[in-house]
Formats: sequence, C-alpha cells, structure tokens
Amino acid sequence: MPEERVLIAGAGPVGLVAAARLVRQGIPVTVLEAGSALGTESRASTFHPPTLDMLHELGAADPLRAQGLEAPEVQYRSKAEGLIAQFDFRDIGDLTAHPYRVQTEQSKLTRILLEQLERDPNFEIEFGSALEGMEQDETGVRVTLRRGEDRQIRTGRFLIGADGARSATRRAANIEFEGFTWPERFLVLSTPFDFKDVIPDLVSVNYVADPQHWHFLLRIPHLWRVMFPIGPDTSDDTALDPAFGQSLMARVVPGITHYEIVHTTLYRVHQRVAKQFRVGRVFLAGDAAHINNPLGGMGMNGGIHDAINLSDRLAQVWAGQAGENSLDLYDRQRRTVTMESVQTQTIQNKRDLEAADPAAQAEFRDRLRATSADPAKTREFLKRISMVASLHRAAALN
Ligand SMILES: Cc1cc2nc3c(=O)[nH]c(=O)nc-3n(C[C@H](O)[C@H](O)[C@H](O)COP(=O)(O)OP(=O)(O)OC[C@H]3O[C@@H](n4cnc5c(N)ncnc54)[C@H](O)[C@@H]3O)c2cc1C
Repeated sequence: MPEERVLIAGAGPVGLVAAARLVRQGIPVTVLEAGSALGTESRASTFHPPTLDMLHELGAADPLRAQGLEAPEVQYRSKAEGLIAQFDFRDIGDLTAHPYRVQTEQSKLTRILLEQLERDPNFEIEFGSALEGMEQDETGVRVTLRRGEDRQIRTGRFLIGADGARSATRRAANIEFEGFTWPERFLVLSTPFDFKDVIPDLVSVNYVADPQHWHFLLRIPHLWRVMFPIGPDTSDDTALDPAFGQSLMARVVPGITHYEIVHTTLYRVHQRVAKQFRVGRVFLAGDAAHINNPLGGMGMNGGIHDAINLSDRLAQVWAGQAGENSLDLYDRQRRTVTMESVQTQTIQNKRDLEAADPAAQAEFRDRLRATSADPAKTREFLKRISMVASLHRAAALN
C-alpha cells in the first residue's frame, strides 16, 4: 500500500504553495527537491493581486509585502513618444484585498513558505532528491529518486510534478509539451541606479514599446531590472559581455552611458503548454505544465493559481467529499485558462511592444488610450492583466 501522503516534486514557488495549502488541510506532504537548498536565482519578481489574496490565506502575503514593494500602477510607454497610458489596480479594489502588485524576488516567497512549513508535523522535505521515474496504479504512485549515487523509492497517494520547465515528472508521465520557442533570448540586467531620479513620472512597472529596443523597467527593493530582447544574430557570449549590456542600457535614458550592473540573466523563452495536466494520480503544475514569456508576469502567478486549485481539489477527495473523477476539473479549468488567457496575453504583450509596422504601433497606442479613457474598459483591462479574469473564467468551467 502506498503511504498516505501527497508527494510533490520541486520546492519552487509552486511546489511549496501546494505543500502549504495541503498541510493546512491536514494532509501529509513530502516535497522532493533535486537541489541541495532552495533556489536563489534572480527570476520572477511580480506577485499579482489575486495571488496575494491566495498567499494571504497561507499567512505569506504580509511577510512577502514586508520584503517587497507595493506597485499599484503600471505604465505603457513608447520609446519615441514617452508615456502612452497608465493604469491603477486600485480601480479594481473591490475585487481584491491587495490592489497592487508586490515586486520582489520569488526566492523571498520560497523562504517564507519553507520557514512556516518546517513547523508543521505533516510536512517533510528531502533536498538532494531528484525524481527520475514514476509508476502508478489504482491505489497510489511509486517514485524513483536519485540521491547522490543511490536510487531510492518513495510512495504516496498522489504526485504533483512542480519540478519546473524541464519536468522529469512530465517526461515520466509521457506528456507532450506543445508550443514553440521564440528566436530571441531575454537579457535581464539589474542595477541600483534609480531611474526615477531621471524619469520622475516613472512608476514601478513600465513596459516600453520600440521595434528594435523594446524593454521593460521593473523596480524591486533596492534595484531596477531592465529586460531586453537579444536577437538570434548575437551569441550568448556577446550578450553576456558587460560592454554589450552597457550599450543596451545606454539607450534607455539619453545621456547616461554607464550603469552599475549587479545581476545579469540571459535565458531562452518559450510558449509551451503540457497536453494534459493530469494523468491518473499524477498532476503537473507551474512551469512543469506551462511556460511563457515574462511580459505581464504571468508564469509563476499562473503556477501558484494551479497549486491552489489542485490542492483544494485533492483535499476534497482526501476528506471523502468528492470522487477522484472531480480531479479532472483541475485539468479542464487550469489548462483552459492557461491557453486562453496566459498564452494569448503574453504573446500579445510581446507583439505589442515589438510592433514595427506603423499601423500596428498606432493600433496599440489607440487601444491603450481608448482603454484608459473609459472606466468600464479600464476595469476589464485591469482584470485581465491582474489575472482576476482568468480565475473567474476557470471557476465558471465545470
Ligand atoms: C532564468 C529565468 C528567469 C526568469 N525570469 C522571470 C521573470 O523575469 N519574470 C517571470 O514572470 N518569470 C520568470 N521566470 C519564470 C519563473 O521563474 C517561473 O515561472 C517560476 O519559477 C515557476 O515556478 P515553479 O515552482 O513551477 O518552477 P521552478 O521555480 O523552476 O521550481 C522547480 C523546482 O523543481 C526542482 N527540480 C527540478 N527537477 C527536479 C526533479 N527531477 N526532482 C525534484 N526536483 C526537481 C528545481 O530544483 C526547482 O527547485 C524565469 C525563469 C528562468 C529560468
């Protein structure tokens, strides 16, 4: 018989949110993490309003806010014309207790969650344990782990694969990861230089359109992150050369030609969605299930929404309040909104910022200005970019 627990592969934000939600409902959880400690890389840095509402229920929103910046406003700019439109999440303050984005690194959240989880007797975590394979039958799941030179087995009633974009769970379950890879890579440079000193009307989240040099400017505590697309003609070595980074930064504010750079990240960007989010007792969540470009900050947030949806469904089955066939709704709801909202919106965001055709640029500017001039359209827009709309849409699917 399998152990009466849920196994979770991966201690990223998605795996640990799922763990926190399950143990709060009295369900024993083991998290299996390949790394020897939590990740520290500079990656996602935006927590959207409804995600903060979910984290609040886990006791994690206030500590996260204490280590982040509240960003109620978002700006869209064009490099040629400056500010196009500004939006304020306080205009949907009736739909969320957190009418702002919190800007801070995802590694802050994983540390907050782990510290809380370690106090819960239902929680265990095994670092240095990489899932290599799994098999399942009608009673449970049997996972093969690599721990150093050893191979070990763990069993549980269900397995959540929250093991990131290269998910071994997804491979073991033989699930296709359909989609495409953008030709550009994305280069993120972080600087302590305060752009507000030279662009006083800037807010903490700014997307800047330009056919060649589109970028975003995002503020996190003590730093600004600037992201640029890197075309296929530029090698990784060139893109990572500090002089090349400085040449890109020099285009952001005329007259400023040198910045202190404290982090550089270069990564390849994909739009891919797993063909299924559930196979029997095995589920995919977060990057294991879907990946997208970072324009709009929807990847990690969507993954956290997966984790909450799935954990609550598993808890109902655990308590005997729902049958196992109810778990299909996880796939239906989360996969549908991933395709309809997250993939569509992030692809559109990139197309809008990089538009080269003057008619497409004008259409983008006119659309944004018409939206910001109309309160009803502004609310619909804010619901979409905050991901409130995708959660409403998921809840309506049955
Ligand atoms: C370089 C980079 C930069 C990014 N920048 C941004 C950004 O600027 N904005 C944005 O919105 N998003 C960004 N993202 C995406 C964002 O980081 C992810 O959406 C988010 O981390 C997803 O969380 P997750 O928990 O699903 O997966 P992850 O955070 O990837 O966590 C997966 C965990 O699983 C572990 N693991 C992997 N394989 C195994 C295994 N076989 N067994 C057990 N454990 C395993 C890993 O060690 C890791 O701890 C970036 C991603 C990368 C790679």
